Amino acid sequence: MTATNRASTPDSLSIPAGQHQIEAIRNEILKRRRFLITSHSRPDGDSIGSQLAMAFALDALGKQVRIVNSDLAPEHYQEFPGMDRIEIAEAIEAPDVDAVIVMECSDLRRTGVAGLDREFLINIDHHAGNALYGAINWHDETAAACGEMVFAIIQALGVTLSEEIATHVYLAILTDTGSFHHSNITPRTFDICRQCVEAGVTPAVMARRVFDSNSFGKLKLIGALLDDMELADEGRLAILHLNDDMLAATGSTHNDTEGLINLPLTAREIQAVVFFKVTNTGDVRVSMRSKYDVDVRRVANEFGGGGHKNAAGFTVSGPLQDIRAGIVDRLVRAIESGLQTRP
Ligand code: 5GP
Ligand code: MN
Repeated sequence: MTATNRASTPDSLSIPAGQHQIEAIRNEILKRRRFLITSHSRPDGDSIGSQLAMAFALDALGKQVRIVNSDLAPEHYQEFPGMDRIEIAEAIEAPDVDAVIVMECSDLRRTGVAGLDREFLINIDHHAGNALYGAINWHDETAAACGEMVFAIIQALGVTLSEEIATHVYLAILTDTGSFHHSNITPRTFDICRQCVEAGVTPAVMARRVFDSNSFGKLKLIGALLDDMELADEGRLAILHLNDDMLAATGSTHNDTEGLINLPLTAREIQAVVFFKVTNTGDVRVSMRSKYDVDVRRVANEFGGGGHKNAAGFTVSGPLQDIRAGIVDRLVRAIESGLQTRP
C-alpha cells in the first residue's frame, strides 16, 4: 500500500511503517491455534475494545481464544458484546496456549497477570517507551488507539469487519482519543471509523453508552470533586483530589471516577489537570491530562510512569502532602514550555 494508490482504493489504509510487523503478526496468528489475549490492569475502552475485536477476529478464523485481565472493566463497558468472555485473574498457572497477544502494555508487568513470561508473546502497543519484550513487537506511537493497530491486523488476516468487531474497534478509538479530543488523530482514524460505521456501528448510540451512562452517585461525585477543585498557575492548572470518604459520601465507586479528569479541561483557561487518588494502601495514583503541546507524559516519566503527551499517569507512595508540591511544580513548567510552542 502506498500513498499514491490510496485515492483509487479508498478502503485501503496506508501504514507503511508497520507493514512488516503486521505481516509477521498475521503469519504467526495463521500458523498457531490457541491464543490468550491480555492487556493492562484497570482496563480502559482501548484495552477492552482492542482485546475483544481481536478475539472476535480469531473466532472467525476458527482459533481458540481466552481473554485474561487482572481487573474487571468499568460498569459502562459490561454490556458490550463478548464482555462475559473476559476472565479475571492475577496469575495463570499453565497457560497451555500457542501465543499470548499483549495489547497496550509498555512492559509485561502492566498486565497485572503473572505467569506469561515464558510464552510466545505478540506485543502490540502505541504508548511511548515500549520495552519490546515480545517475540514479535509492533510499537506504533502514531496510532491514536491500539484499536487502530488491531484493525490493521484484522484487515491483513482477511477477516470480515463484523458488527461486533467494528463495535470494539470504534469503542477503542472513541475512548482513547478522549472522544476525538486528543492530538494524535489522523485521517486513518476517521477512515477506520467510517468503515466501522459502514459495518453497523451507530456513533450516537456508542457515545451515549460510553459517556452518558452515569449513575446518580457519579453525578454527585462530579459535584463534590469540582467543588473541591483547586487552581494553580493563574488558573492554567486544575488540581483534583479523591479519597474513599468522598466515594462513600456520594454513594459512588472507584469505577465512577473514569473520565472525570477531563471535566476541568472544558474550561477555556485550563491547560492541564492533575487528579490525585489516594488509595487505601496509602499509595497515590496520579492521572494527568492536558491540551495541545503541554506534555504530561514527560512529567509521568520523571515519576516512573508513562502514557501519552495529553494523557499520562503514575503511582507514588504517599503521603499526598509530601509529594504534591513537586508534582504541581513540574506541571507548571510543562504548561509553560507547552504554551511556548503552541500554534
Ligand atoms: P490514566 O490517567 O487514565 O490512568 O492513564 C492515562 C494514560 O497513561 C494511559 O494511556 C495509561 O496507559 C498511561 N499510564 C497511566 N499510568 C501509568 C503507569 O503507571 N505507567 C505507564 N507506563 N503508563 C501509565
Ligand atoms: Mn490506548
